[in-house]
Amino acid sequence: MDAGAASSRVAELRAQIEQANHRYFVLDAPEVDDATYDGWMRELRTLEEQHPDLRAPDSPTARVGAPPAGRFAPVRHEVPLRSLDNAFGADELRAWDARIRRLLRTEAPRYLCELKIDGLSVALRYDGGHLVQGATRGDGLVGEDVTDNLRAVAAVPAELRGAPVHLVVRGEIYLPRSAFAVLNAAQLAAGEAAFANPRNAAAGSLRAKDPEVPAGRGLRLWCYEVLAGPELDQGDALEQMEAWGLPVNPERARCHGVEEAVTWCEGWRERRLQLDYATDGLVVKVDAAAGRRALGATSHAPRWAVAFKFPAEAGRTRVREIWVSVGRSGVLTPIAELEPLALCGVTVSRASLHNADYVQAKDVRVGDAVTVRRAGEVIPEVIAVDHGAREGDPPAFEMPQACPACGGPVRRLPGEAAHRCANPACPAQVLGLLVHYGGRAAMDIEGLGERTARLLLERGLVRDPADLYGMTVEQLRDLPRLGERSAANLVRAVAASRERPLHRLLVALGIRFVGERVARILAEHFGSLEAIAAASEEELRAVPDIGPRIATAIGAYLADPDNAALVLRLRAAGVRLADPEPARRAAADPGPAAPRALEGQTVVLTGSLLGWTREEAKAVVEAAGGHVTGSVSARTDLVVAGENAGQKLEKARALASGSWTRRGCATCCGRPTA
Ligand code: AMP
Ligand code: ZN
Repeated sequence: MDAGAASSRVAELRAQIEQANHRYFVLDAPEVDDATYDGWMRELRTLEEQHPDLRAPDSPTARVGAPPAGRFAPVRHEVPLRSLDNAFGADELRAWDARIRRLLRTEAPRYLCELKIDGLSVALRYDGGHLVQGATRGDGLVGEDVTDNLRAVAAVPAELRGAPVHLVVRGEIYLPRSAFAVLNAAQLAAGEAAFANPRNAAAGSLRAKDPEVPAGRGLRLWCYEVLAGPELDQGDALEQMEAWGLPVNPERARCHGVEEAVTWCEGWRERRLQLDYATDGLVVKVDAAAGRRALGATSHAPRWAVAFKFPAEAGRTRVREIWVSVGRSGVLTPIAELEPLALCGVTVSRASLHNADYVQAKDVRVGDAVTVRRAGEVIPEVIAVDHGAREGDPPAFEMPQACPACGGPVRRLPGEAAHRCANPACPAQVLGLLVHYGGRAAMDIEGLGERTARLLLERGLVRDPADLYGMTVEQLRDLPRLGERSAANLVRAVAASRERPLHRLLVALGIRFVGERVARILAEHFGSLEAIAAASEEELRAVPDIGPRIATAIGAYLADPDNAALVLRLRAAGVRLADPEPARRAAADPGPAAPRALEGQTVVLTGSLLGWTREEAKAVVEAAGGHVTGSVSARTDLVVAGENAGQKLEKARALASGSWTRRGCATCCGRPTA
């Protein structure tokens, strides 16, 4: 590239990166993925190396202090920051209460009711009364270290009075509505984009690169849980936090029995709109510490708390048609096509009827007038049918006996609400699995959307995810609307997915109940798909947060010969089924890095390293601080020689008058290679 071209490319890259930073840090609405961003940074760095005159102190590459790629360091939470289950309206709250009473064997449990602040959850760690760490929730297990930014927020106490030596509290960072109005006015005056809502503004401010940003925005904090510290009844914990000097929302109530809680919650329906901060419901918690301990939590949410939500907007419309969709696990779901209606600002024309029992219980038929509800992000559902308004006598809905996608047999397992297509080769299932496999939380294969996946299936290029790895550009480029370039991109994206971490593969396989969180837990605990397959259900259940339901689902998945065959085919296609050992440890403990065994050492890999690909071994060495080179020289510190090591080992032996070689990878990971 000549100097002129380099100069304009550098300017272009800097502008793109600045824009991406702004969207990520300020608007909290990133538009490019991390890989693209990292690619830009790499290209910019290379150009600046090749053309030193283009370097600039304000280039994104020159900024000091920002972690790689401008992201925050990961923090493993001492106690997971869980989500909350929802209860929409009084009846669902009563149903939740009935379960609590049954589990705790009490007549009228004491509940502590709080407002549910619509902000950003953070964990604050105080050691000896000093704020030492603040982290965002992240995925609940690992968050981002935003200590400096939180320290800059005046509402977050830096020191506590009389707090225990080690204390972790959870709270919500939020931006008052009044401060939000001021901020947006200032944004507009400065020619910047306005924030969509106070929550986005708070999130963007808290994750700004520069602590001056959150400092100046008027962020506030309400604390509501002691995560690590004395075990207290919830009401006492709130009082205790106040006494230590933490801000705690004064709007709360101790209620005896569910009816008091219902009354308190209902009382906020209109009142909450007058508060200077946004709430998205209320939270009802079991007050007694012993009760909370007995109830415990699922991997998703505590059993001792529930979010009370005001029933979402509902509306009346008419059912045009009922059809059946087939999902990736073969489940048949009846779907109501509706006359479009507006709910919560979006047009709804389809609602889930869940399963055959549901349709039967509600007795929904084509032409019926129905009430449809849409709550938050969930799929709209039909909650009531106006049978009095039915005209004529439309036939009752019946689950088809043959799969609508493949004509295969439909079965219903005892104890299950769902009907399933029993044909593992069902195109609807395969399509669902392919799209899921390439999804963002799974193997993240860009370009493998529903349309392309359908095309690949129709042309017989792919029958399951393992086939993806055999596709060539030649096969793909003539497919309609694909073209040479997209074909090459798709093949590249598929190839790159071979190296994804284990938890992504676990998500990609589509095992029931194994979502991102559970997958991470499994990957961290077992390290390889092999180890998971070898574990008994008891061993799976012994892993924190893995319940019997999940353990059974994993067992059932791997016991299925088709699934086992898929895993073998993926392995044969070069897909990584295990995380490298140090990467695992690093993932499990992103805290201060352990001394690295190969820091500064130059390592040569040679021969076939049994059970390891060259890439894996390289990653292991690099994670341990070493540097892998291709050829042996006097500067080589270590040669890892596997089976059939040839010349390189000979050369190393010759050079190693005072040095040594080793069979196996004993230095960095202890795992023998041959
Ligand atoms: P959701 O985001 O819908 O899963 O709801 C769970 C979130 O509610 C948690 O992540 C908390 O950040 C938030 N939250 C707000 N106020 C409270 C509160 N008083 N008690 C518990 N959680 C709360
Ligand atoms: Zn089918």
